[in-house]
Amino acid sequence: MFMKKWRGEFDFFLLILLASGFVGFLFDRTTFFIASALFFYSVYNIYQLKRLSEWASEKQTIEETSLPEGSGNWGTIFDSIYKLQKKQRSSSNYLKSLINKAQESSAALEMAVVMINEQGNLDWGNLASERLLGFKFPDDQNQAVTNLVRDPRFTAYFYGGNYTETLQISIEGISENVLEFQITFFGKNERLMLVRDVTQLHKLESMRKDFVGNVSHELGTPITVIKGYLESIIDNIDSVDAKWHNPILQMEQQSNRMEAIVKDLLLLSTLETRAIPGDELSADVPTLFREIEETTTKVMKDYKHRFTTSAPNQLKLRGSYNELYSVILNLVMNAAKYSGVNNTIQLSARIEDDAVFIEVADDGLGIGREHLSRLTERFYRVDKSRSSETGGTGLGLAIVKHILARHDGELNIQSRVGKGSRFSCELPLYRVLNST
Ligand code: ADP
Repeated sequence: MFMKKWRGEFDFFLLILLASGFVGFLFDRTTFFIASALFFYSVYNIYQLKRLSEWASEKQTIEETSLPEGSGNWGTIFDSIYKLQKKQRSSSNYLKSLINKAQESSAALEMAVVMINEQGNLDWGNLASERLLGFKFPDDQNQAVTNLVRDPRFTAYFYGGNYTETLQISIEGISENVLEFQITFFGKNERLMLVRDVTQLHKLESMRKDFVGNVSHELGTPITVIKGYLESIIDNIDSVDAKWHNPILQMEQQSNRMEAIVKDLLLLSTLETRAIPGDELSADVPTLFREIEETTTKVMKDYKHRFTTSAPNQLKLRGSYNELYSVILNLVMNAAKYSGVNNTIQLSARIEDDAVFIEVADDGLGIGREHLSRLTERFYRVDKSRSSETGGTGLGLAIVKHILARHDGELNIQSRVGKGSRFSCELPLYRVLNST
């Protein structure tokens, strides 16, 4: 279509030349007529160009003004520009309405949404960012975010670049509330930061911790009294009617279980509220292994387990001896409890490129794959009846996970039903104090 128009224009141009040449020929002034025709043709085109250039330079944007009218090929050009103008107008209106909608909906959010550019400077923030973080727009725009949120913990989180976990802090100078920061990368190394107020959740969480701590503490005394009386009765069991012997023994068994549960709950609650052990503490791994082997052999002597231990000589870890003792003891007692009689329990420690591993493996019952992800939940048991037979509280692995997290480590579990289990505690290399 466009090509056709240009052909038409070319034909028209030839026609002018021919017509002016012919008329010129008639008057014997061919050159003069052709030159005049070319002159008028050029003047016409220059005039149209002038209109187009005036139109283009007059206004700032293509949407602001209507195009000049034109005929022939110029009409086609103006028409095409007009169509483009219309298309752009509608897509720019669409974008404007989209931006308005995004701004309106983000303004309604309780959560602060902040866009941070490649240089770590503030680009944009919604209304909640002004309320929660005290940002002022446009004054704070292009300021370094770490200057606006002044806290060393935030700076470390921001530049640390590991955003898999959120950061929960209250920032002096901004507000007393506890804020949760979550950052993700987008575009070209830009960051999107979401901030929400979690003060209420924090209060509930600390109420829960206090409640569990208080209940476990309060239950301690009555259980000790009941156990004390039961022990005295059992010491004089001959003076008690024979029909009560069995119930009394069961009462003693259950009160022992109750004591173990309360003790574990109290330990968990202390772990949750007590400060993380400082770097000055240390735990000697070969000593830990030896003591735990002795204790387990004594407590579970009927099971006749064999132990194999291997650890680098004098391997010492930065951390609480008592807490790490509790981790390995829990794992070894489980290995002993859930692997029947006459089995081998392997205790090993090894250092790899970027971590130290402490592992407890058994060739016992094993655990079905579907249970593995839930084992460290409080009171989760694979087999309730078996667990209560063995005197388990269902809190052992929750304690293990908690202590490892306090030492910047994690628990990995591999197991297959009938083939045994391997519980591997992975701690970062900076936890190693020395080894030979
Ligand atoms: P419990 O006090 O019941 O042993 P834990 O939290 O220590 O509680 O363990 C949770 C569950 O995981 C146990 O009830 C048991 O079913 C399973 N389990 C733990 N260790 C082993 C193991 N070495 N072999 C088989 N099952 C295990």
